[in-house]
Amino acid sequence: MEDKKQKGIAILGSTGSIGTQALEVIAEQSEHFRVEVLTAFHNADLLIRQAIRHRPDVVVIGNESKYRQVTDALWDHGIKTYAGAAALEQVVAMENVDMVLTALVGYAGLKPTLAAIRAKKPIALANKETLVVAGELITREAGHYGVNIYPVDSEHSAIFQCLAGEFHNPVEKIYLTASGGPFRGMNADELAQVTRQQALQHPNWDMGAKITIDSATMMNKGLEVIEARWLFGLKPDQIDVVVHPQSIVHSLVQFKDGSIKAQMGLPDMKLPIQHALSYPYRLPNDFPRFNFTDYPQLTFEAPDCDTFRNLALAFEALQQEGNAACVVNAANEVAVQAFLDDAIPFAAIAGINEQTLQKAQFVAQPTLDDYMASDAEARAIATELTRLTGQL
Ligand code: NAD
Ligand code: MG
Repeated sequence: MEDKKQKGIAILGSTGSIGTQALEVIAEQSEHFRVEVLTAFHNADLLIRQAIRHRPDVVVIGNESKYRQVTDALWDHGIKTYAGAAALEQVVAMENVDMVLTALVGYAGLKPTLAAIRAKKPIALANKETLVVAGELITREAGHYGVNIYPVDSEHSAIFQCLAGEFHNPVEKIYLTASGGPFRGMNADELAQVTRQQALQHPNWDMGAKITIDSATMMNKGLEVIEARWLFGLKPDQIDVVVHPQSIVHSLVQFKDGSIKAQMGLPDMKLPIQHALSYPYRLPNDFPRFNFTDYPQLTFEAPDCDTFRNLALAFEALQQEGNAACVVNAANEVAVQAFLDDAIPFAAIAGINEQTLQKAQFVAQPTLDDYMASDAEARAIATELTRLTGQL
């Protein structure tokens, strides 16, 4: 990278799968990056260890009951400590923060991401739920404040990389690749039998629990379709999904002349994380290299939207616009947590999402307050549906 100054990074959700890998990237590229902010929700022990090792200016623990433990441990190290959700909105705006990596999971990412945009901080976005909930608002605000949003999600990083140098060339469509998850090829009867343990075993990626379940239900791909619509300013019919079980082709762009560009590599999130942090530069690294002879076959197939209804539902929410995707996201967060708590079966998740979308009030042009109200309403509906399902 040409500029000599280290980039100061705030990592929201540093104890998660993306957060811990981002810290590895930053440690490996310490001449380019330094850690200014680390945040976590529950895992105070890991947050403390990370802070002592990476020496941020500030840490935030979401769970206020852990504040004392974090402060006692970091006081002697001269690291400032805060607690609670509102603190996230303040720390992203600090002067020493040059970029905010949103690696926290779920709707909780919305307000801190908005605060970072309003403080004119470039965003490295892993937290796809923020764009699903309020993509119109987030991209409008980013445009208004002149803030770039760099994708961390591997598919969107792939699209972004394929678009380099194509600024004046219209995109005909994009293809998001999907591994298909652990239950690819199953029918509805088989899906009705799957266990939590099986759903948590992703064939190609080691990720947090929520996205792993979303990958098994195909909701992750649905959320990514919506994420892509906002990141790249596309119409829903310009976005297609193709199942590619090897997860080597990370996604593709088809231009107006029919030419298709793909971005490829081993399934390793450290590469898209590093790309988002270092853009427009590519930094040398020691990540394992792809070997073509290890993969004599790369295969592609159509997704099964009849069995994996979440994917069809995401497209439907995208067509409806307004608060529809916000509602589906909230229902899905509730349903996935209920499944992880063993309160509902795997196959009930999509139905709860679908029914919540039908029952929640539609808002055509939501404000931030509307999104917050829709999220709360959808959570209440989905919680009730979850309770009824659990009684069956
Ligand atoms: P994870 O569950 O491993 O980690 C989540 C992090 O967020 C933790 O640090 C946790 O403390 C924090 N967090 C959780 N709830 C919070 C709340 N209410 N307030 C503040 N912080 C909270 O999740 P992950 O797999 O690292 O995923 C993070 C985000 O990145 C998700 O939006 C996911 O969809 C996206 N993503 C992840 C991967 C991956 O490989 N893991 C790939 C692409 C995109
Ligand atoms: Mg992805």
